[in-house]
Amino acid sequence: MAPRSKRARATAGAAIIVAAVALAAAALAASRLKSSDDRNDEVLIGEARSGAVRVELGSAVGEVKLTEAASPGRPIVVLDAGHGGRDPGAKGVSGSTSEKELTLALARELRSKLAERGRVRVALTREDDRYLTLDQRAEIARRLGASAYLSLHIDSAPNPLARGATVYSLSDVASDAEAAGLADKENKAGESLSSEPDGSVRGMLSDLAVREQMNASASLAERLVRKSAGRYLLRPEPHRFADFRVLRHAEVPAVLFEAGYISNVDDEALLIQPKERARIVAALAQAIEADVASRIVR
Ligand SMILES: [Zn+2]
Repeated sequence: MAPRSKRARATAGAAIIVAAVALAAAALAASRLKSSDDRNDEVLIGEARSGAVRVELGSAVGEVKLTEAASPGRPIVVLDAGHGGRDPGAKGVSGSTSEKELTLALARELRSKLAERGRVRVALTREDDRYLTLDQRAEIARRLGASAYLSLHIDSAPNPLARGATVYSLSDVASDAEAAGLADKENKAGESLSSEPDGSVRGMLSDLAVREQMNASASLAERLVRKSAGRYLLRPEPHRFADFRVLRHAEVPAVLFEAGYISNVDDEALLIQPKERARIVAALAQAIEADVASRIVR
């Protein structure tokens, strides 16, 4: 190759890197952190060395708490307890449970497990029974530059015999009609309850970056399935694909996990027991840690 064209390529490459750094700096500047023990000591995300921190993400989202890890600067994992507040999600077959309660229980238990193992830092999109739009949930993962984003849900179906967990990753085209229907349902969740509808698709990522996000999300989903096999009930072909708004807008490796069917008597009875949820939590924690670690090595 001629020196001139080599130099031209190098220049183009440098320009891309500069642009990327500028974008990253803007993202960091937008997400300023405050140390929990010194509220005046503002630092940027990359500079947070230790200690649990609170991240201010604007009035729409409020403050997000980040757990500390065993060593500084560990990757951030965002756990999203589906639904909440005036959007209860699916109702349990017993009549006494709702999806929003079980997703929050799962998110809290998974955070405890990950925090105890100390390999990643963890943030929850919600800590209590509150309503967030899908874009606000995704924004938390995006603004934190999360290494993995897991949106937790409990399924529901007209067929009372439907059972088992499913892992969904982002795709332009759904793997099957049921996955397309679920994405449609979840994308509309709480829509009629929101006074401020979610904005239009951001479209900030290039086609290549979206493709990379989809690939990384699919490998996270595969890992979740492998770690879960034999520990609790999965549906046949448990990894499926669809165009989930909350995953697309997260712009990081992201999956939507349906832990079982709240519309099935047996699944509901298992999901309300902390001891049974612990089997799910253990598998998810291992899969998340392994996935995040695999991307650090690369
Ligand atoms: Zn849901």
